Amino acid sequence: MSVGGNFVDNVVIVGGGTAGWMTAAALSHKFGTSGAQITLIESEEIGTVGVGEATLPHIRFFNAAMGIDEAELMARTQATFKLGIEFAGWGKPGESYIHPFGDYGEPHDGIAFHHLWTQQRLAGNHKRLCEYSLPVMMAEANRYTMPDPDPAALLSTFGYAFQFDASLYAAYLSQLSQGRGVKRVEGKITHANRNGENGRIDSVVLENGTVIDGDLFIDCSGFRGLLIEQTLATGYEDWSHYLPCNRAFAVQCEPSDPIGPYTRATARKAGWQWRIPLQHRIGNGHVYCSDYISDDEARSILLDNLEGAPITEPRQLFFKTGRRNKLWNGNVVAIGLAGGFLEPLESTSIHLIQQGITALVEMFPTDASMDADAEEYNAMMQLEFDRIRDFLVLHYVANQREGEKFWDDMRAMEWPASLKEKVTAFVQSGIIPRYDVGAFLPPSWLAVFVGQNILPQGYDPRLDRFDANQIAREVENLRSRIAGTVDGLPVHMDFVRGHCPGNISPAL
Ligand SMILES: Cc1cc2nc3c(=O)[nH]c(=O)nc-3n(C[C@H](O)[C@H](O)[C@H](O)COP(=O)(O)OP(=O)(O)OC[C@H]3O[C@@H](n4cnc5c(N)ncnc54)[C@H](O)[C@@H]3O)c2cc1C
Repeated sequence: MSVGGNFVDNVVIVGGGTAGWMTAAALSHKFGTSGAQITLIESEEIGTVGVGEATLPHIRFFNAAMGIDEAELMARTQATFKLGIEFAGWGKPGESYIHPFGDYGEPHDGIAFHHLWTQQRLAGNHKRLCEYSLPVMMAEANRYTMPDPDPAALLSTFGYAFQFDASLYAAYLSQLSQGRGVKRVEGKITHANRNGENGRIDSVVLENGTVIDGDLFIDCSGFRGLLIEQTLATGYEDWSHYLPCNRAFAVQCEPSDPIGPYTRATARKAGWQWRIPLQHRIGNGHVYCSDYISDDEARSILLDNLEGAPITEPRQLFFKTGRRNKLWNGNVVAIGLAGGFLEPLESTSIHLIQQGITALVEMFPTDASMDADAEEYNAMMQLEFDRIRDFLVLHYVANQREGEKFWDDMRAMEWPASLKEKVTAFVQSGIIPRYDVGAFLPPSWLAVFVGQNILPQGYDPRLDRFDANQIAREVENLRSRIAGTVDGLPVHMDFVRGHCPGNISPAL
């Protein structure tokens, strides 16, 4: 059987970073050896972007769908568990909060827990919302265990992701994909040949003269967007006015205790610093806006704030936040950095790669024109990007770092209209509109709202039908159950050493 009903016999993936190999793994798994020939071209000389170590829980479903053994993958990629992200200094300087992968509390008669918390808060109970979140309490206490599959169990109320070495992940997927028939070609593409009639890409040409034909091209060539932009000039929607950070320095350092089950994002003078602890080292980086700070100062801020001795030279990266006007143009689909970039504040890039691949598999070309598939794909992926953009912007506009030029300007910026509506609904009545599409569900929005002191002034009026003292007891009972449960859990790295100790053997 040919993939897509004979319309696509040759799929060419341009690029072998995380995006390229995730795409190759998924397509080869989905269509097997009886489908189209899948060829991936990568250039060792050009290399990959070499960062991107924190993930979202969705990646587990991607791996599981491909039959990957999770503990083995974690061992091979030196992975640790991730229960969320700590945001330090994003509200008031000195304050911090964790955006967890999981729920807050339990609903009461169908009323979301944060309404109960608001009722209690307005009545004078000032316990932190996060004390009702198991994953936050686990992260703060540096504890970890696997979720309980029984949905009634308290230990089922969290999700987890990984902090891993993304280059090892790509290498793992490369071996897996080649084992499933993907053809890997090493070489530098110099240009693409376009069809004289319809402008689509017929083939790409390597430096050594080899011509590789394709019906469908997946552009995973990174920021340069070799096909989608350099060849097709698709255009880029620039979001720098919302998210002006445009540079980063990245450096790895020696591990230091504790290696907690979470990523940290610390607000700095004109941007923020990430800390991603793996089993054998810590990944660090400083994302900043070059209009407010020099490269030298940005580099010094990073190096002055490491927890261990650096083990690599700081590397500088340049980017512009935004996305392509079309992620699928003609017979080219851009996945990964070739499609767009949103700063890694909420670890969303690999997630967007995954969404792009899932949508591609679902909408794989069913007719020669591909236009209907492309239209649907673009509408869906644009919404994914837009929703994440709004969520990231929220972190910036809701800062309370008064007197610092960058942060003052962030507070004063024009908010996206969609974000303004969401915040207004929450402040007035505690309502968090739920999107059908998008990486972040209401508990994530709640975490950032409350973590950055955007607090609801009202709660669901249905709550007044119940005895407030009874609710207070219920809420307190949950808080102490969470605290007691966390006390009994293993220390995160003890769990990791027992479950998936690091192993970098290259053999599958
Ligand atoms: C500062 C920073 C921090 C980040 N942190 C995170 C994070 O914590 N979590 C997360 O999910 N994401 C993060 N990301 C994003 C993440 O790094 C990328 O989404 C991910 O690595 C995918 O990159 P890619 O495969 O699209 O591109 P790349 O890694 O750049 O790969 C491009 C590929 O194309 C090939 N190529 C390019 N041109 C040619 C040519 N002419 N011929 C042949 N081959 C070619 C290259 O050799 C390479 O194989 C971060 C990004 C940045 C910039």
